[in-house]
Amino acid sequence: MAPALDSALRRGSNECGKKKKRVGPGVTFGGGRIAVDLWKTAGTSARHFFLTHCHTDHTHGLTPSWRHGPIYCSPITARLLKVMFDLDDSLLRPLEVNESHQLADFCVTLLEANHCPGAVMFLFESDSFGTVLCTGDMRHDHRMEKMFATEPAFMRLQKLTIDHIYLDNTYLDEKIAEFPTREEAISE
Ligand SMILES: [Zn+2]
Repeated sequence: MAPALDSALRRGSNECGKKKKRVGPGVTFGGGRIAVDLWKTAGTSARHFFLTHCHTDHTHGLTPSWRHGPIYCSPITARLLKVMFDLDDSLLRPLEVNESHQLADFCVTLLEANHCPGAVMFLFESDSFGTVLCTGDMRHDHRMEKMFATEPAFMRLQKLTIDHIYLDNTYLDEKIAEFPTREEAISE
């Protein structure tokens, strides 16, 4: 793993000893109020719903009849959601990428995930539940390394101490020596 994100991840795991791996689709935190890529509402107290990107493993459970609360996502993902699920505009809360947004008693920053169109990571900051990074699916390659060097939101991330990281680790396997580049994947 290249140095910048490796550094951020190591600080998340080593300084606080609280690194968590996601073991199923989606997470809740902040006293259960905040849900990321989680659309099963039974038995939860989630009120703020976030979607990292529109791949079906992250929208599982989301239907055209969704009425449980507004969905926060990138502007591109909001447009895709309208097409895929015919959701009413009143349910969609597109937030600008690489900017911070104050919602209720927490702040969320959307960070380009370098995955599919509209895909983001969510950085949450709160006095009550600390600093939480939800990566969703992301590709850490030379493009993301460049963002750590040039994009203010990424440069700020690098300086933060992260209390919890929810890392989508589908392909995080040290036995996999080679992972195809974006260009190789597209050409297949
Ligand atoms: Zn994906």
